[in-house]
Amino acid sequence: MSQQETHGFQTEVKQLLHLMIHSLYSNKEIFLRELVSNAADAADKLRYEALTNNDLYEGEGELRVRISADKEKGTVTISDNGIGMTRDGVIEHLGTIAKSGTADFFKNLSGDDSKDSQLIGQFGVGFYSAFIVADKVTVRTRAAGHSSDEGVLWESAGEGDFTVETISKQTRGTEITLHLRDDEKEFADDYRLRSIVTKYSDHISVAVEMFEEGTPAVEATEDSEAVAATEGSWKPMNKATALWTRNKSDVTKEEYQEFYKHISHDYTDPLVWSHNRVEGKQEYTSLLYIPAKAPFDMWNRDRKHGLKLFVQRVFVMDDAEQFMPSYLRFVQGLIDSNDLPLNVSREILQDNKVTTSLRTAVTKRVLGMLEKLAKNDAEKYLSFWAEFGQVLKEGPAEDFANKERIAGLLRFASTHTGEATPDVALADYVERMQEGQTKIYYIVADSHEAAANSPHLELLRKKGIEVLLMSERIDEWLINHLTEFDGKQMHSVTRGDLELGELEDAGEKEAQEKLETESEGLVKRVKDSLGDKVSEVKVTTRLTDTPACVVAGEGEMSTQMIKLMQAAGQ
Ligand code: ADP
Ligand code: MG
Repeated sequence: MSQQETHGFQTEVKQLLHLMIHSLYSNKEIFLRELVSNAADAADKLRYEALTNNDLYEGEGELRVRISADKEKGTVTISDNGIGMTRDGVIEHLGTIAKSGTADFFKNLSGDDSKDSQLIGQFGVGFYSAFIVADKVTVRTRAAGHSSDEGVLWESAGEGDFTVETISKQTRGTEITLHLRDDEKEFADDYRLRSIVTKYSDHISVAVEMFEEGTPAVEATEDSEAVAATEGSWKPMNKATALWTRNKSDVTKEEYQEFYKHISHDYTDPLVWSHNRVEGKQEYTSLLYIPAKAPFDMWNRDRKHGLKLFVQRVFVMDDAEQFMPSYLRFVQGLIDSNDLPLNVSREILQDNKVTTSLRTAVTKRVLGMLEKLAKNDAEKYLSFWAEFGQVLKEGPAEDFANKERIAGLLRFASTHTGEATPDVALADYVERMQEGQTKIYYIVADSHEAAANSPHLELLRKKGIEVLLMSERIDEWLINHLTEFDGKQMHSVTRGDLELGELEDAGEKEAQEKLETESEGLVKRVKDSLGDKVSEVKVTTRLTDTPACVVAGEGEMSTQMIKLMQAAGQ
Protein backbone atom coordinates (compact mmCIF):
# COMPACT_ATOMS: atom_id res chain seq x y z
CA MET A 1 0.00 0.00 0.00
CA SER A 2 2.69 2.50 -0.84
CA GLN A 3 0.60 4.15 -3.54
CA GLN A 4 -0.59 7.64 -3.04
CA GLU A 5 -4.22 8.20 -2.18
CA THR A 6 -6.13 11.45 -2.26
CA HIS A 7 -8.78 12.14 0.36
CA GLY A 8 -11.20 15.02 0.72
CA PHE A 9 -11.34 16.91 4.00
CA GLN A 10 -14.51 16.63 6.05
CA THR A 11 -16.77 19.62 5.26
CA GLU A 12 -16.17 21.15 8.68
CA VAL A 13 -12.40 21.02 8.17
CA LYS A 14 -12.76 22.99 4.96
CA GLN A 15 -14.89 25.54 6.77
CA LEU A 16 -12.39 25.71 9.60
CA LEU A 17 -9.47 26.22 7.23
CA HIS A 18 -11.26 29.02 5.45
CA LEU A 19 -12.30 30.76 8.62
CA MET A 20 -8.91 30.39 10.24
CA ILE A 21 -6.97 31.85 7.37
CA HIS A 22 -9.31 34.80 7.16
CA SER A 23 -9.71 35.57 10.81
CA LEU A 24 -6.57 34.64 12.68
CA TYR A 25 -4.13 36.86 10.84
CA SER A 26 -3.49 38.94 13.96
CA ASN A 27 -2.62 35.86 15.96
CA LYS A 28 -0.47 33.92 13.55
CA GLU A 29 2.15 32.58 15.89
CA ILE A 30 -0.35 30.32 17.62
CA PHE A 31 0.49 27.67 15.03
CA LEU A 32 3.67 26.96 16.94
CA ARG A 33 1.84 26.64 20.23
CA GLU A 34 -0.64 24.19 18.70
CA LEU A 35 1.97 22.01 17.01
CA VAL A 36 4.26 21.93 20.05
CA SER A 37 1.23 21.17 22.18
CA ASN A 38 0.35 18.19 19.95
CA ALA A 39 3.95 16.96 20.07
CA ALA A 40 3.89 17.14 23.86
CA ASP A 41 0.58 15.24 23.92
CA ALA A 42 2.18 12.59 21.70
CA ALA A 43 5.03 12.24 24.21
CA ASP A 44 2.51 11.91 27.05
CA LYS A 45 0.63 9.21 25.20
CA LEU A 46 3.78 7.25 24.46
CA ARG A 47 4.89 7.41 28.09
CA TYR A 48 1.53 6.03 29.13
CA GLU A 49 1.48 3.20 26.57
CA ALA A 50 5.05 2.30 27.41
CA LEU A 51 4.11 1.62 31.02
CA THR A 52 2.72 -1.69 29.89
CA ASN A 53 4.93 -2.15 26.83
CA ASN A 54 8.42 -0.86 27.33
CA ASP A 55 9.44 -1.96 23.81
CA LEU A 56 7.59 1.04 22.41
CA TYR A 57 10.56 3.19 23.38
CA GLU A 58 12.67 1.31 20.81
CA GLY A 59 15.71 2.04 22.94
CA GLU A 60 15.05 5.77 23.00
CA GLY A 61 13.22 6.91 26.10
CA GLU A 62 14.48 10.49 26.06
CA LEU A 63 11.36 12.23 24.75
CA ARG A 64 11.71 15.63 23.16
CA VAL A 65 10.33 18.02 20.57
CA ARG A 66 12.65 19.73 18.09
CA ILE A 67 12.06 22.88 16.13
CA SER A 68 14.15 24.01 13.20
CA ALA A 69 13.91 26.35 10.26
CA ASP A 70 15.39 26.57 6.79
CA LYS A 71 15.57 30.14 5.65
CA GLU A 72 16.42 29.33 2.05
CA LYS A 73 13.59 26.88 1.56
CA GLY A 74 11.26 28.96 3.68
CA THR A 75 10.27 26.06 5.94
CA VAL A 76 9.74 25.40 9.64
CA THR A 77 9.88 21.84 10.98
CA ILE A 78 8.53 20.53 14.26
CA SER A 79 9.49 16.97 15.04
CA ASP A 80 8.84 14.72 17.99
CA ASN A 81 9.65 11.17 19.05
CA GLY A 82 6.26 10.58 20.61
CA ILE A 83 3.58 8.02 19.84
CA GLY A 84 3.32 8.77 16.09
CA MET A 85 0.40 7.82 13.85
CA THR A 86 -0.54 4.90 11.63
CA ARG A 87 -1.92 5.42 8.13
CA ASP A 88 -5.49 5.05 9.38
CA GLY A 89 -4.76 7.36 12.27
CA VAL A 90 -3.43 10.02 9.94
CA ILE A 91 -6.50 9.87 7.73
CA GLU A 92 -8.76 10.03 10.74
CA HIS A 93 -6.98 12.72 12.77
CA LEU A 94 -5.65 14.98 10.04
CA GLY A 95 -8.73 15.03 7.85
CA THR A 96 -11.61 15.36 10.28
CA ILE A 97 -12.49 17.14 13.49
CA ALA A 98 -13.39 14.75 16.24
CA LYS A 99 -15.02 17.22 18.62
CA SER A 100 -18.68 16.67 19.38
CA GLY A 101 -20.98 19.44 18.26
CA THR A 102 -18.63 20.55 15.49
CA ALA A 103 -21.29 20.54 12.78
CA ASP A 104 -23.58 22.67 14.93
CA PHE A 105 -20.78 25.06 15.65
CA PHE A 106 -20.19 25.71 11.98
CA LYS A 107 -23.88 25.95 11.26
CA ASN A 108 -24.10 28.80 13.73
CA LEU A 109 -21.38 30.94 12.24
CA SER A 110 -22.61 34.22 10.84
CA GLY A 111 -20.39 34.39 7.77
CA ASP A 112 -19.00 37.68 9.05
CA ASP A 113 -15.30 36.93 9.54
CA SER A 114 -14.73 39.44 12.29
CA LYS A 115 -17.65 38.16 14.36
CA ASP A 116 -16.79 34.56 13.72
CA SER A 117 -13.17 35.06 14.66
CA GLN A 118 -14.34 35.59 18.25
CA LEU A 119 -15.89 32.15 18.20
CA ILE A 120 -12.98 30.38 16.66
CA GLY A 121 -11.01 31.03 19.85
CA GLN A 122 -13.44 28.91 21.81
CA PHE A 123 -13.39 26.21 19.22
CA GLY A 124 -9.65 25.68 19.13
CA VAL A 125 -7.96 25.17 15.79
CA GLY A 126 -5.31 22.58 16.65
CA PHE A 127 -3.27 21.00 13.91
CA TYR A 128 -5.01 22.95 11.15
CA SER A 129 -3.50 26.18 12.48
CA ALA A 130 -0.43 25.21 10.43
CA PHE A 131 -2.25 26.61 7.42
CA ILE A 132 -2.39 30.08 8.91
CA VAL A 133 1.23 30.53 7.82
CA ALA A 134 1.81 27.66 5.37
CA ASP A 135 0.48 27.05 1.88
CA LYS A 136 1.68 23.47 2.02
CA VAL A 137 2.13 21.17 5.02
CA THR A 138 4.02 17.89 4.96
CA VAL A 139 3.68 15.37 7.76
CA ARG A 140 5.97 12.37 8.06
CA THR A 141 5.06 10.02 10.86
CA ARG A 142 5.52 6.49 12.12
CA ALA A 143 3.65 4.95 15.02
CA ALA A 144 5.60 3.57 17.98
CA GLY A 145 5.85 -0.20 17.84
CA HIS A 146 5.37 -0.38 14.07
CA SER A 147 8.10 -1.25 11.60
CA SER A 148 10.06 1.39 9.74
CA ASP A 149 8.31 0.65 6.43
CA GLU A 150 4.97 1.59 7.97
CA GLY A 151 5.71 5.28 7.89
CA VAL A 152 3.17 7.67 6.41
CA LEU A 153 3.56 10.79 4.34
CA TRP A 154 0.63 13.23 4.50
CA GLU A 155 0.58 16.33 2.40
CA SER A 156 -1.91 19.11 1.76
CA ALA A 157 -2.20 22.65 0.49
CA GLY A 158 -5.05 23.21 2.93
CA GLU A 159 -7.69 23.50 0.28
CA GLY A 160 -10.10 20.70 -0.47
CA ASP A 161 -7.99 17.61 -0.01
CA PHE A 162 -4.85 15.86 1.19
CA THR A 163 -2.74 12.92 0.04
CA VAL A 164 -1.36 10.00 2.03
CA GLU A 165 1.37 7.62 1.03
CA THR A 166 3.17 4.82 2.85
CA ILE A 167 6.87 5.56 3.24
CA SER A 168 9.83 4.27 5.13
CA LYS A 169 10.70 6.18 8.31
CA GLN A 170 13.43 5.01 10.64
CA THR A 171 12.61 7.07 13.68
CA ARG A 172 9.42 6.83 15.64
CA GLY A 173 7.22 9.92 15.93
CA THR A 174 5.98 12.79 13.83
CA GLU A 175 7.72 15.45 11.79
CA ILE A 176 5.67 18.34 10.47
CA THR A 177 7.11 20.69 7.86
CA LEU A 178 5.44 23.97 7.06
CA HIS A 179 6.15 25.47 3.66
CA LEU A 180 5.61 29.09 4.56
CA ARG A 181 3.47 31.42 2.47
CA ASP A 182 5.45 34.13 0.70
CA ASP A 183 4.41 36.79 3.14
CA GLU A 184 5.08 34.59 6.20
CA LYS A 185 8.73 33.80 5.57
CA GLU A 186 9.68 35.75 8.70
CA PHE A 187 8.86 32.61 10.68
CA ALA A 188 11.76 30.77 9.07
CA ASP A 189 14.03 32.89 11.20
CA ASP A 190 15.78 31.17 14.07
CA TYR A 191 15.63 34.18 16.31
CA ARG A 192 11.92 34.77 15.71
CA LEU A 193 11.10 31.12 16.41
CA ARG A 194 13.19 31.13 19.53
CA SER A 195 11.30 34.06 20.99
CA ILE A 196 7.94 32.42 20.29
CA VAL A 197 9.04 29.08 21.67
CA THR A 198 10.31 30.52 24.92
CA LYS A 199 7.05 32.38 25.31
CA TYR A 200 4.83 29.36 24.72
CA SER A 201 6.61 26.31 25.98
CA ASP A 202 7.92 26.75 29.49
CA HIS A 203 5.00 24.86 30.97
CA ILE A 204 5.44 21.92 28.56
CA SER A 205 6.75 18.90 30.45
CA VAL A 206 8.81 17.48 27.60
CA ALA A 207 12.00 19.21 26.36
CA VAL A 208 11.45 21.57 23.43
CA GLU A 209 14.80 21.93 21.71
CA MET A 210 16.37 24.14 19.09
CA PHE A 211 19.71 23.70 17.41
CA GLU A 212 22.60 25.84 18.48
CA GLU A 213 25.61 26.11 16.26
CA GLY A 214 29.12 26.27 17.58
CA THR A 215 29.55 23.44 20.02
CA PRO A 216 30.13 20.04 18.40
CA ALA A 217 27.11 17.92 17.70
CA VAL A 218 26.29 15.58 20.58
CA GLU A 219 23.99 13.54 18.47
CA ALA A 220 23.30 13.37 14.79
CA THR A 221 19.70 13.45 13.69
CA GLU A 222 18.35 11.45 10.83
CA ASP A 223 15.24 13.38 10.18
CA SER A 224 16.51 16.89 9.96
CA GLU A 225 19.32 16.66 7.46
CA ALA A 226 19.80 20.39 7.19
CA VAL A 227 20.91 20.78 10.77
CA ALA A 228 22.69 17.47 11.13
CA ALA A 229 25.32 18.74 8.73
CA THR A 230 26.18 21.70 10.91
CA GLU A 231 28.32 21.52 14.00
CA GLY A 232 26.37 22.26 17.12
CA SER A 233 23.90 20.70 19.49
CA TRP A 234 20.24 20.64 20.44
CA LYS A 235 19.49 22.85 23.41
CA PRO A 236 16.28 22.84 25.46
CA MET A 237 14.36 26.09 25.25
CA ASN A 238 12.09 25.37 28.20
CA LYS A 239 12.30 24.20 31.79
CA ALA A 240 10.68 20.91 30.75
CA THR A 241 9.36 20.13 34.21
CA ALA A 242 5.64 19.57 34.62
CA LEU A 243 4.29 22.95 35.66
CA TRP A 244 2.05 21.66 38.42
CA THR A 245 4.97 19.94 40.18
CA ARG A 246 6.69 23.28 40.64
CA ASN A 247 6.14 25.50 43.66
CA LYS A 248 3.37 28.01 43.25
CA SER A 249 5.75 30.85 43.99
CA ASP A 250 8.01 29.78 41.10
CA VAL A 251 5.29 29.84 38.49
CA THR A 252 4.41 33.13 36.85
CA LYS A 253 0.93 34.29 35.94
CA GLU A 254 1.86 34.04 32.26
CA GLU A 255 2.97 30.43 32.70
CA TYR A 256 -0.31 29.51 34.36
CA GLN A 257 -2.18 31.18 31.52
CA GLU A 258 -0.13 29.44 28.84
CA PHE A 259 -0.62 26.12 30.53
CA TYR A 260 -4.36 26.69 30.57
CA LYS A 261 -4.32 27.28 26.83
CA HIS A 262 -2.32 24.11 26.35
CA ILE A 263 -4.76 21.88 28.19
CA SER A 264 -8.05 23.59 27.35
CA HIS A 265 -7.70 24.34 23.62
CA ASP A 266 -9.13 27.73 24.49
CA TYR A 267 -7.06 30.75 23.79
CA THR A 268 -8.74 33.29 25.93
CA ASP A 269 -6.99 33.76 29.28
CA PRO A 270 -8.74 31.97 32.15
CA LEU A 271 -10.69 33.93 34.76
CA VAL A 272 -9.07 32.39 37.84
CA TRP A 273 -7.18 29.28 38.86
CA SER A 274 -6.18 27.39 41.94
CA HIS A 275 -3.07 25.26 42.31
CA ASN A 276 -2.73 23.01 45.33
CA ARG A 277 -0.57 20.23 46.58
CA VAL A 278 -2.09 18.03 49.24
CA GLU A 279 -0.05 15.68 51.39
CA GLY A 280 -1.06 13.28 54.12
CA LYS A 281 -3.61 10.53 53.95
CA GLN A 282 -4.17 11.31 50.31
CA GLU A 283 -1.49 12.73 48.11
CA TYR A 284 -2.35 14.70 45.05
CA THR A 285 -1.86 17.94 43.22
CA SER A 286 -4.68 19.75 41.54
CA LEU A 287 -4.59 22.68 39.17
CA LEU A 288 -8.07 23.97 38.40
CA TYR A 289 -9.10 26.76 36.09
CA ILE A 290 -12.34 28.66 35.58
CA PRO A 291 -12.50 29.75 31.93
CA ALA A 292 -13.54 33.29 31.07
CA LYS A 293 -15.82 32.17 28.26
CA ALA A 294 -18.17 29.24 27.92
CA PRO A 295 -17.03 26.72 25.29
CA PHE A 296 -19.06 26.51 22.10
CA ASP A 297 -20.48 23.13 23.04
CA MET A 298 -21.37 23.80 26.67
CA TRP A 299 -24.89 22.46 26.22
CA ASN A 300 -24.00 19.50 24.06
CA ARG A 301 -24.87 16.35 25.92
CA ASP A 302 -21.98 14.38 24.44
CA ARG A 303 -19.49 17.06 25.21
CA LYS A 304 -16.40 15.72 26.89
CA HIS A 305 -15.54 17.37 30.16
CA GLY A 306 -13.55 16.66 33.24
CA LEU A 307 -9.95 16.88 34.30
CA LYS A 308 -6.76 15.62 32.78
CA LEU A 309 -5.67 12.76 34.98
CA PHE A 310 -2.04 12.09 35.84
CA VAL A 311 -0.81 9.38 38.15
CA GLN A 312 2.60 10.11 39.64
CA ARG A 313 3.21 12.70 36.93
CA VAL A 314 2.46 10.27 34.11
CA PHE A 315 -0.41 11.36 31.89
CA VAL A 316 -3.20 8.79 32.04
CA MET A 317 -6.28 10.25 30.37
CA ASP A 318 -8.09 13.32 29.20
CA ASP A 319 -11.60 14.28 30.27
CA ALA A 320 -11.77 12.21 33.43
CA GLU A 321 -15.30 13.30 34.24
CA GLN A 322 -15.33 11.22 37.43
CA PHE A 323 -13.51 13.99 39.27
CA MET A 324 -15.94 16.76 38.55
CA PRO A 325 -19.69 16.86 39.10
CA SER A 326 -21.68 17.77 36.03
CA TYR A 327 -22.76 21.17 37.36
CA LEU A 328 -19.07 22.14 37.39
CA ARG A 329 -18.42 20.79 33.90
CA PHE A 330 -16.93 24.10 32.77
CA VAL A 331 -13.90 23.62 35.03
CA GLN A 332 -10.65 22.82 33.24
CA GLY A 333 -7.48 21.49 34.74
CA LEU A 334 -5.73 18.45 36.00
CA ILE A 335 -5.32 16.20 38.92
CA ASP A 336 -2.14 14.27 39.64
CA SER A 337 -2.70 11.49 42.15
CA ASN A 338 -0.16 9.41 44.02
CA ASP A 339 -2.79 6.97 45.22
CA LEU A 340 -4.30 5.59 42.04
CA PRO A 341 -2.69 2.71 40.16
CA LEU A 342 -0.88 3.67 36.95
CA ASN A 343 -2.94 1.24 34.92
CA VAL A 344 -6.17 2.82 36.09
CA SER A 345 -9.01 2.72 33.56
CA ARG A 346 -12.28 4.62 33.28
CA GLU A 347 -14.09 1.54 34.59
CA ILE A 348 -11.90 1.38 37.66
CA LEU A 349 -12.33 5.11 38.29
CA GLN A 350 -16.08 4.73 38.17
CA ASP A 351 -16.27 2.78 41.35
CA ASN A 352 -13.30 3.69 43.43
CA LYS A 353 -12.80 5.11 46.91
CA VAL A 354 -9.87 7.27 45.89
CA THR A 355 -11.88 8.77 43.04
CA THR A 356 -14.78 9.59 45.32
CA SER A 357 -12.67 11.35 47.87
CA LEU A 358 -10.71 13.24 45.22
CA ARG A 359 -13.96 14.34 43.64
CA THR A 360 -15.25 15.58 46.98
CA ALA A 361 -12.04 17.49 47.63
CA VAL A 362 -11.83 18.98 44.15
CA THR A 363 -15.50 20.02 44.22
CA LYS A 364 -14.93 21.84 47.51
CA ARG A 365 -11.88 23.48 46.03
CA VAL A 366 -13.85 24.83 43.08
CA LEU A 367 -16.68 26.09 45.29
CA GLY A 368 -14.09 27.77 47.49
CA MET A 369 -12.46 29.38 44.48
CA LEU A 370 -15.82 30.77 43.33
CA GLU A 371 -16.70 32.00 46.83
CA LYS A 372 -13.39 33.81 47.00
CA LEU A 373 -13.92 35.37 43.60
CA ALA A 374 -17.43 36.51 44.54
CA LYS A 375 -16.10 38.08 47.71
CA ASN A 376 -13.00 39.76 46.31
CA ASP A 377 -14.04 40.75 42.84
CA ALA A 378 -17.78 41.06 42.44
CA GLU A 379 -17.49 42.33 38.89
CA LYS A 380 -15.41 39.38 37.74
CA TYR A 381 -17.80 37.08 39.53
CA LEU A 382 -20.73 38.51 37.61
CA SER A 383 -18.91 37.87 34.35
CA PHE A 384 -18.44 34.28 35.50
CA TRP A 385 -22.10 34.14 36.40
CA ALA A 386 -23.18 35.42 33.00
CA GLU A 387 -21.21 32.62 31.30
CA PHE A 388 -21.82 29.70 33.66
CA GLY A 389 -24.64 30.63 36.04
CA GLN A 390 -27.14 28.41 34.27
CA VAL A 391 -24.85 25.42 34.68
CA LEU A 392 -24.21 26.11 38.34
CA LYS A 393 -27.98 26.23 38.90
CA GLU A 394 -28.03 22.49 38.29
CA GLY A 395 -25.98 22.16 41.47
CA PRO A 396 -28.59 22.07 44.24
CA ALA A 397 -30.35 19.17 42.50
CA GLU A 398 -27.15 17.27 41.87
CA ASP A 399 -25.04 17.85 44.95
CA PHE A 400 -27.05 17.62 48.11
CA ALA A 401 -24.06 17.84 50.41
CA ASN A 402 -22.96 21.21 49.04
CA LYS A 403 -26.43 22.64 48.51
CA GLU A 404 -26.06 25.55 50.91
CA ARG A 405 -22.66 26.58 49.52
CA ILE A 406 -23.96 26.43 45.96
CA ALA A 407 -27.02 28.44 46.99
CA GLY A 408 -24.67 31.09 48.32
CA LEU A 409 -23.11 31.37 44.86
CA LEU A 410 -26.38 31.91 43.01
CA ARG A 411 -27.32 35.32 41.65
CA PHE A 412 -30.78 36.59 40.71
CA ALA A 413 -32.50 39.65 39.41
CA SER A 414 -34.85 41.14 41.99
CA THR A 415 -37.35 43.90 42.56
CA HIS A 416 -34.68 45.62 44.66
CA THR A 417 -33.18 47.08 41.50
CA GLY A 418 -35.75 45.87 38.99
CA GLU A 419 -32.88 45.43 36.50
CA ALA A 420 -32.54 42.29 34.42
CA THR A 421 -28.89 41.77 35.47
CA PRO A 422 -28.78 38.94 37.98
CA ASP A 423 -26.63 40.40 40.73
CA VAL A 424 -28.52 39.67 43.94
CA ALA A 425 -27.18 36.92 46.18
CA LEU A 426 -29.59 35.13 48.52
CA ALA A 427 -27.54 36.50 51.40
CA ASP A 428 -28.16 40.06 50.13
CA TYR A 429 -31.86 39.33 50.06
CA VAL A 430 -31.87 37.94 53.59
CA GLU A 431 -30.04 41.02 54.82
CA ARG A 432 -32.75 43.26 53.39
CA MET A 433 -35.68 41.23 54.73
CA GLN A 434 -38.37 43.21 56.52
CA GLU A 435 -38.99 42.99 60.21
CA GLY A 436 -41.22 39.96 60.73
CA GLN A 437 -40.54 38.52 57.22
CA THR A 438 -39.72 34.82 57.43
CA LYS A 439 -39.72 33.79 53.78
CA ILE A 440 -37.78 34.48 50.63
CA TYR A 441 -40.27 35.46 47.94
CA TYR A 442 -39.69 34.76 44.30
CA ILE A 443 -41.51 34.58 41.01
CA VAL A 444 -40.68 32.45 37.98
CA ALA A 445 -41.93 33.63 34.60
CA ASP A 446 -41.15 33.22 30.92
CA SER A 447 -39.15 36.39 30.67
CA HIS A 448 -37.68 38.99 32.93
CA GLU A 449 -40.30 41.44 31.68
CA ALA A 450 -43.13 39.09 32.54
CA ALA A 451 -41.70 38.49 36.00
CA ALA A 452 -41.07 42.16 36.72
CA ASN A 453 -44.54 43.22 35.59
CA SER A 454 -46.50 40.39 37.13
CA PRO A 455 -49.66 41.36 39.02
CA HIS A 456 -48.57 38.89 41.69
CA LEU A 457 -46.03 41.44 42.85
CA GLU A 458 -48.51 44.18 43.57
CA LEU A 459 -49.19 43.50 47.20
CA LEU A 460 -45.55 42.83 48.04
CA ARG A 461 -44.49 45.97 46.28
CA LYS A 462 -46.99 47.91 48.35
CA LYS A 463 -45.47 46.48 51.49
CA GLY A 464 -41.90 47.07 50.31
CA ILE A 465 -41.04 43.36 50.25
CA GLU A 466 -38.31 42.31 47.82
CA VAL A 467 -39.10 39.54 45.31
CA LEU A 468 -36.53 37.55 43.30
CA LEU A 469 -37.33 37.68 39.60
CA MET A 470 -36.51 34.42 37.84
CA SER A 471 -36.91 33.81 34.15
CA GLU A 472 -34.43 31.16 33.01
CA ARG A 473 -35.64 27.76 31.93
CA ILE A 474 -33.68 26.07 34.66
CA ASP A 475 -35.13 28.23 37.45
CA GLU A 476 -38.22 26.16 38.12
CA TRP A 477 -36.06 23.07 38.38
CA LEU A 478 -33.65 24.87 40.66
CA ILE A 479 -36.36 26.08 42.97
CA ASN A 480 -37.81 22.60 43.26
CA HIS A 481 -34.54 21.51 44.80
CA LEU A 482 -33.70 24.63 46.67
CA THR A 483 -36.58 24.95 49.06
CA GLU A 484 -34.78 27.09 51.60
CA PHE A 485 -31.73 29.18 52.26
CA ASP A 486 -30.28 30.18 55.61
CA GLY A 487 -33.26 28.56 57.33
CA LYS A 488 -35.73 30.63 55.32
CA GLN A 489 -38.24 29.00 53.06
CA MET A 490 -38.39 29.95 49.41
CA HIS A 491 -41.96 30.94 48.61
CA SER A 492 -43.51 31.61 45.24
CA VAL A 493 -45.67 34.70 45.05
CA THR A 494 -47.90 32.95 42.51
CA ARG A 495 -49.01 30.34 45.01
CA GLY A 496 -52.65 30.55 46.14
CA ASP A 497 -51.72 31.26 49.70
CA LEU A 498 -49.14 33.98 49.92
CA GLU A 499 -48.58 33.42 53.65
CA LEU A 500 -47.29 36.82 54.58
CA GLY A 501 -47.50 35.84 58.26
CA GLU A 502 -46.64 38.70 60.53
CA LEU A 503 -46.38 41.00 57.57
CA GLU A 504 -50.12 40.89 57.19
CA ASP A 505 -51.74 44.07 58.54
CA ALA A 506 -54.08 43.57 61.43
CA GLY A 507 -57.11 44.79 59.53
CA GLU A 508 -56.30 42.73 56.46
CA LYS A 509 -57.86 39.51 57.60
CA GLU A 510 -61.12 41.21 58.45
CA ALA A 511 -61.10 43.11 55.19
CA GLN A 512 -60.62 39.83 53.35
CA GLU A 513 -63.50 38.18 55.21
CA LYS A 514 -65.76 41.14 54.61
CA LEU A 515 -64.90 41.11 50.91
CA GLU A 516 -65.67 37.39 50.72
CA THR A 517 -69.16 37.77 52.16
CA GLU A 518 -69.92 40.77 49.99
CA SER A 519 -68.80 39.02 46.81
CA GLU A 520 -70.45 35.62 47.18
CA GLY A 521 -72.82 36.25 44.29
CA LEU A 522 -70.08 37.49 41.94
CA VAL A 523 -67.79 34.57 42.76
CA LYS A 524 -70.56 32.09 42.04
CA ARG A 525 -71.34 33.65 38.67
CA VAL A 526 -67.68 33.63 37.62
CA LYS A 527 -67.25 30.06 38.80
CA ASP A 528 -70.29 28.85 36.94
CA SER A 529 -69.20 30.43 33.71
CA LEU A 530 -65.61 29.07 33.92
CA GLY A 531 -66.83 25.61 34.90
CA ASP A 532 -64.13 22.90 34.84
CA LYS A 533 -61.42 25.26 33.69
CA VAL A 534 -60.64 26.32 37.25
CA SER A 535 -60.77 24.51 40.55
CA GLU A 536 -61.61 27.55 42.57
CA VAL A 537 -62.50 31.24 42.32
CA LYS A 538 -61.58 33.60 45.16
CA VAL A 539 -61.80 37.28 45.85
CA THR A 540 -58.60 38.84 47.14
CA THR A 541 -57.12 41.96 48.62
CA ARG A 542 -53.79 41.02 47.07
CA LEU A 543 -54.23 42.84 43.81
CA THR A 544 -54.06 46.59 43.77
CA ASP A 545 -53.97 47.51 40.06
CA THR A 546 -54.97 44.36 38.21
CA PRO A 547 -58.58 43.12 38.28
CA ALA A 548 -57.85 39.34 38.25
CA CYS A 549 -55.04 36.80 37.98
CA VAL A 550 -54.52 33.05 37.72
CA VAL A 551 -52.69 31.31 40.56
CA ALA A 552 -51.59 27.76 41.22
CA GLY A 553 -53.23 26.00 44.12
CA GLU A 554 -51.18 25.14 47.20
CA GLY A 555 -49.38 21.85 46.53
CA GLU A 556 -50.00 21.95 42.78
CA MET A 557 -47.49 22.23 40.02
CA SER A 558 -46.77 25.79 39.09
CA THR A 559 -47.66 27.05 35.62
CA GLN A 560 -43.92 27.23 34.80
CA MET A 561 -43.34 23.65 35.87
CA ILE A 562 -46.24 22.51 33.70
CA LYS A 563 -44.68 24.28 30.73
CA LEU A 564 -41.30 22.74 31.50
CA MET A 565 -42.78 19.26 31.63
CA GLN A 566 -44.64 19.85 28.38
CA ALA A 567 -41.42 21.05 26.74
CA ALA A 568 -39.70 17.88 27.95
CA GLY A 569 -42.43 15.84 26.25
CA GLN A 570 -44.19 14.66 29.41
P1 ADP B 1 -6.42 17.96 19.49
O1 ADP B 1 -4.99 18.19 19.87
O2 ADP B 1 -7.35 18.88 20.19
O3 ADP B 1 -6.85 16.53 19.56
P2 ADP B 1 -5.49 18.67 16.89
O4 ADP B 1 -6.14 19.20 15.67
O5 ADP B 1 -4.41 19.54 17.46
O6 ADP B 1 -6.60 18.40 17.96
O7 ADP B 1 -4.89 17.25 16.58
C1 ADP B 1 -5.72 16.24 16.07
C2 ADP B 1 -5.20 14.88 16.36
O8 ADP B 1 -4.10 14.56 15.49
C3 ADP B 1 -4.65 14.66 17.75
O9 ADP B 1 -5.67 14.35 18.67
C4 ADP B 1 -3.72 13.47 17.52
O10 ADP B 1 -4.45 12.27 17.54
C5 ADP B 1 -3.20 13.71 16.13
N1 ADP B 1 -1.89 14.37 16.17
C6 ADP B 1 -1.62 15.65 15.87
N2 ADP B 1 -0.31 15.92 16.01
C7 ADP B 1 0.27 14.76 16.41
C8 ADP B 1 1.63 14.37 16.74
N3 ADP B 1 2.64 15.25 16.69
N4 ADP B 1 1.84 13.09 17.09
C9 ADP B 1 0.83 12.19 17.13
N5 ADP B 1 -0.46 12.50 16.86
C10 ADP B 1 -0.74 13.77 16.50
MG1 MG C 1 -3.91 19.87 19.55
